[in-house]
Amino acid sequence: MADSLRAVKGMNDILPASVPRTEKLPDGAIWSWFETTVRRVLGQYGYQYLLTPIVEPTALFVRGLGEVTDIVEKEMYSFTDAMNGDRLTLRPEATAGIVRAMVEHNALYNGPLRLWTLGPMFRHERPQKGRYRQFHQLDVEALGHAGPDVDAELILLVRRLWRELGLVEGQHVRLEINSLGQPEERRAHREALVRHLEAHADVLDEDARRRLHSNPLRILDTKNPAMQPLVEAAPVLMDFLGTESRAHFDALRAVLDAAGLAYRVNPRLVRGMDYYNLTVFEWVTDQLGSQGTVCGGGRYDGLFGQLGGKPTPAVGFGLGIERLLLLMQELGVAVPSQAPAVYAVLPSPQQLPRVMPVLEALRAAGVGVLMHAGGGSMKAQFKRADASGARHALIFGDEELARGEVALKPLRDAGAAQRSLPLAGVADWAAELLTA
Ligand code: ATP
Ligand code: MG
Repeated sequence: MADSLRAVKGMNDILPASVPRTEKLPDGAIWSWFETTVRRVLGQYGYQYLLTPIVEPTALFVRGLGEVTDIVEKEMYSFTDAMNGDRLTLRPEATAGIVRAMVEHNALYNGPLRLWTLGPMFRHERPQKGRYRQFHQLDVEALGHAGPDVDAELILLVRRLWRELGLVEGQHVRLEINSLGQPEERRAHREALVRHLEAHADVLDEDARRRLHSNPLRILDTKNPAMQPLVEAAPVLMDFLGTESRAHFDALRAVLDAAGLAYRVNPRLVRGMDYYNLTVFEWVTDQLGSQGTVCGGGRYDGLFGQLGGKPTPAVGFGLGIERLLLLMQELGVAVPSQAPAVYAVLPSPQQLPRVMPVLEALRAAGVGVLMHAGGGSMKAQFKRADASGARHALIFGDEELARGEVALKPLRDAGAAQRSLPLAGVADWAAELLTA
């Protein structure tokens, strides 16, 4: 195939489960189960759904995420709008756009909001397993609450999601938390940190040297093994926290403890974006190699102000959907069947005008029906029926139809006999197909 007709590197097709493929990627079946589960769980916690544009002004991310961050320095897909010269960017994350929307629409005028969205994000990274250039996030934000109550709620909401998806916390995914304190506490820590790093300038790599004065905290996030001893010995932000920040963190821990959720306090946990303060957390796994963070978030009380809004406390997280679903596939989590209950076999296509209203009546009664389309032999139709995963075949044969009936053949239960059902009273037997 011509190069120009392939997907862009690092941007993947998510294909139906029935289509074989070589790359390790989630399929449409597990993806759609995830979305259904997310909708249910977020509803249980009273979070409201919203959508914001995929393209935003570049300035939003530069101001929101911070100039000296991986994303803004080297990962953004930015371009000039050929029509008017505007600088635009494909969103690399969801929070900045949501905060922009809330400020623009004065959305918190009547009080706090709990929100969620889900969709594609774009970062120009080196594609590898669990790391793509277009990937998808579930994004959940609680806006207008100072916490730590909603901080705890958000973390427990993720645990709820794990449980609904068949993942075991502590085993498949582990929680790490930290507190980044407040800006003035970070400043004091930062000064101590810069002194420590300057004293060992010979060990710093190029990235670190560049960030030494612009964003030294991010140096602690380095993946360079040669710098690990230096990072291990660095002053810890936790030791610089004042009474209020400590109380916030302790209160969060008390709720997590009472909820029986195990976690590790990781004093080295920083996060990629500049906007975080107080609570930060990550859910990590050991099973995806170096792409081990499945979900990350924290509090960002300064972001509204930074983006021109009224100061508003806020906390949220982003969950990498591809990484999570890859993990679930690797663990062999069983995806509930999404096959329709019934496969409709039509030996005589000319009977369709009589058959179609019956299929519609079944669907109206809540029964999923996959109709055989395009004719073909009974043998071919039954092959499709078997492959569909349906539990029953309904056979609309000429003789049955002439008697005002349809034949029901169980497909998954070898012992069960075929029997006839009346076309006149679909509603009377439809319920049986839902459960059987
Ligand atoms: P990493 O350290 O792995 O680069 P990050 O800190 O940049 O992650 P966040 O910005 O916190 O990631 O995004 C939240 C989640 O989105 C991550 O924990 C991860 O699951 C997912 N994610 C981030 N970047 C990618 C990517 N390029 N491809 C796939 N998933 C990603
Ligand atoms: Mg990253």
